[in-house]
Amino acid sequence: SKPVVAIVGRPNVGKSTLFNKLTGSRLSIVEDTPGVTRDRIYADCEWCGRGFMLVDTGGIEPRTDDVLLSQMRQQAQLAIEQADVIILVTDLRSGVVANDLDVAVMLQKSGKPLVLCVNKSDSLGDPPAEFYEFYNLGLGDPIQVSAVHGHGTGDLLDAVLEHL
Ligand code: GDP
Ligand code: MG
Repeated sequence: SKPVVAIVGRPNVGKSTLFNKLTGSRLSIVEDTPGVTRDRIYADCEWCGRGFMLVDTGGIEPRTDDVLLSQMRQQAQLAIEQADVIILVTDLRSGVVANDLDVAVMLQKSGKPLVLCVNKSDSLGDPPAEFYEFYNLGLGDPIQVSAVHGHGTGDLLDAVLEHL
């Protein structure tokens, strides 16, 4: 069976937008309200002749920070169990937040290959100063992506393929 690549991250960072961009579909629901991906959504993907199954993860809208945290743990745990490679999506505009760190630690403990995506990097060219914060997650080189415009998705998939 095909390797599984899971997209994880806190709500509203653009996981579903990225999923749709990478699969060329509108399977996943994109909303301005955080956390509208209720079920995990799967699609076949291919990059440079390699096939894999891409998974968009999400949860219902959290009511409190505690619920958010536990949902993210659950989501990340599922991804850890099922995935061969994990794409952790973060948001350049908000910078590194505590929940990113929490999930980063969990994912690191899993030993699963990880690719760090800094989404909402909409402008081309040299990264802004905030970009370098993402090195503090200790997950290797962050990759600048704009899921809306499609910038950086090739670099992201190249990085995924290195682990397949
Ligand atoms: P999810 O909760 O992580 O699945 O996030 P969504 O894909 O639903 O996106 C949340 C919001 O971020 C939506 O308003 C998207 O249009 C917006 N968004 C997603 N990717 C980008 C991006 O690359 N750039 C910008 N500017 N907005 C984005
Ligand atoms: Mg979503």
